Amino acid sequence: MVKVAIGAGHGGFGVTPGKRTPDGEYEWNFNNKVVKSAIEHLNEYENVEVLRVDDPSGKTDVPLQERTDKANAWGADIYISDHHNANTGSWGDWTGTETYTYEGNWNEAEKLAKLVQNKVLGAYGLADRGLKKANFHVLRETTMPAILIEGGFMDSTIDIKNLRNDQILKNAGKAIAEGVAEYFGLKKKQTDSIHRLIVDGKQVIALKEDANLLNEIEKYLGSAKEIKIERV
Ligand SMILES: [Zn+2]
Repeated sequence: MVKVAIGAGHGGFGVTPGKRTPDGEYEWNFNNKVVKSAIEHLNEYENVEVLRVDDPSGKTDVPLQERTDKANAWGADIYISDHHNANTGSWGDWTGTETYTYEGNWNEAEKLAKLVQNKVLGAYGLADRGLKKANFHVLRETTMPAILIEGGFMDSTIDIKNLRNDQILKNAGKAIAEGVAEYFGLKKKQTDSIHRLIVDGKQVIALKEDANLLNEIEKYLGSAKEIKIERV
């Protein structure tokens, strides 16, 4: 079982001073959307357990020590902290996505950072600021490979357009999950969703998603007026 600790940086709704766009939007709200999606997508893989270390309601800003203590005590295999950057706090044209690991050489954390950075870059579609090093608490005080993602700048006139796009934030979360899956070599769970083949208003067969539906459809081509596939 792979254990992933993940947290959205800060807290929402006014509990963290600063950490906002020049228009007053809270960083946690962006981070939260990414983390929620990352957890959803991580759960699509086999043998993964997820621990969320921030307050999912956004009502409190869980102290950093508490976050890293939780992850360490739980025995997390990796730690992921999700953030969005700010430069001056006033609008400017700086831009890009970057991922941090702790100062020094940390092969496993750097491997994870590289995989995740490459995936989230595609999701945000912003400039590649690359892999960076920093003496951040969550990177220093965790006992497992830890990375911190800065998805884009909240005070960038370029990046903010993407950060205000919920689909992009969801895709960023999916990208994190894909990076983690690649790092551990995780397999997707088999979905048990079913395809129903409906010919002229009547169900003729119901097949699992991975079954070959085309052979079935071919039997009715030419004779049927209407062929529909419903996913249930
Ligand atoms: Zn932050």
